Amino acid sequence: MSDLLQRLRGRGWRMTAQRRVVAEVLNGDHVHLTADEVLARATARLPEISRATVYNTLGELVSLGEVVEVTAHGRAKRYDPNAHRPHQHLVCSDCGTIRDVHPGGDPLADLPDSERFGYTVSEAEVTYRGRCPDCARP
Ligand SMILES: [Zn+2]
Ligand SMILES: [Zn+2]
Repeated sequence: MSDLLQRLRGRGWRMTAQRRVVAEVLNGDHVHLTADEVLARATARLPEISRATVYNTLGELVSLGEVVEVTAHGRAKRYDPNAHRPHQHLVCSDCGTIRDVHPGGDPLADLPDSERFGYTVSEAEVTYRGRCPDCARP
């Protein structure tokens, strides 16, 4: 469970009603929402929330390291509250649904020295693609 709200409370994050709604929308597992989706869901809960507040809050959560930006090729950037447990993504090529997955190996360690070209390699990102059960259904 990604306990974003709990983590933010623990850090003493200033929790106004508007900021809390943004954090609530992002709380949970397998959450990968675009900024527009966050805005739509936040507005449904708190109609007076402003676009600027939503975008600023997202930016702040990213700079705090509590939310990570996920870029899926050809799709809008998404916000992922699962920021502390290393994971990779499984993406449906049809509907774009994203799941957090934990492959057995370590993609960073799996790159041999001969393939590092002298780089100090600090991160690895693997995207698995396929069709989710809903899209695969005839
Ligand atoms: Zn799908
Ligand atoms: Zn994720």
